[in-house]
Amino acid sequence: MKTFWNRAVAAACLIAGATGASAQAAYPSKPMTWIVPFAAGGPTDALARDIAEKVQRQLGQTIVIENQGGAGGTIGASKAARAAPDGYTFLVGHMGYMAAAPSLYKKLTYDPVKDFDAVFRFPDTPMVLMVPKSSPHQTAADLLDFARNNPGKLNFSNAGVGSTSHLVAALFASRAGVEITSVAYKGAAPALNDLMAGVVDGMFDQTNTALPQLTPTGRLTAVGLTSAEPMPQFPGVPPLGAKVVPGFEAATWYGLYAPKNTPKQAVQKVHEAYVKALTDKAWTAKMTDQGIRLLPAAQQTPAALAQHTASEVDKWRRVAAEAKIQID
Ligand code: ASP
Repeated sequence: MKTFWNRAVAAACLIAGATGASAQAAYPSKPMTWIVPFAAGGPTDALARDIAEKVQRQLGQTIVIENQGGAGGTIGASKAARAAPDGYTFLVGHMGYMAAAPSLYKKLTYDPVKDFDAVFRFPDTPMVLMVPKSSPHQTAADLLDFARNNPGKLNFSNAGVGSTSHLVAALFASRAGVEITSVAYKGAAPALNDLMAGVVDGMFDQTNTALPQLTPTGRLTAVGLTSAEPMPQFPGVPPLGAKVVPGFEAATWYGLYAPKNTPKQAVQKVHEAYVKALTDKAWTAKMTDQGIRLLPAAQQTPAALAQHTASEVDKWRRVAAEAKIQID
């Protein structure tokens, strides 16, 4: 009798184990959502859609992009932190709301480190300072001269308080010793539209969405790069750190995050799908053409992104204080 029960229990365990295994193997069994906390058409949205398209092919499931703009990305990040940790909701995060926000927002409703599991790090994007072609200031030095002689009169649009377009402009102004007025939008796309319309004097945008605007017939001029070196994609555009603000350098980093306690297998599977997608050299070459900087594999892992996020939260405490970046 005992033997019978032992066998029955063993068989039941086997069945349960097999069901568990097939449930795991089946992940993802339904479409997933990636929250992009900015308006559609901006650099975060464009990069996220491009990566999601490649990752979904590897996973065999649709990835739906949900744009949830506002408050520099913190509204969408807060929503993602509260989502079910079931492997079906993710946040496309960046250094603004996943690193600088704790130093900028007094009542942040999520903790970038404690409330999320890191999944994989995206490539980085340097930024480009642009002005309307109709602007009387067609170089970065001219812009700074104007700002020095007219404190507070230079207006820069950005993607929201704590967005990278805001942070990088504030850092640039602080290092240059000038004052600029920041004008916040719900994403870089509407901020760029007002730059093109000449409503504001300047804007820092990521290379991938800046580039298409810089055609000979376009309405914008690039006056400086935030990369340390010149970029072949932007011929004749100098790095701002070369002369205008010596040593100035910045780039936006991004990563995919899941709500804390998402099953490890889900995190692993999505990370592996990204690693496989990156073997498509035609795709990675297209990203490079847009000025996007691919990272070594060791920096893309969930553990590397988790560590990077924690160290960037610390870094921004110092940087936000140094540049006196505040919620305005
Ligand atoms: N990444 C942009 C920024 O923070 C916003 C956007 O993608 O719309 O400036």
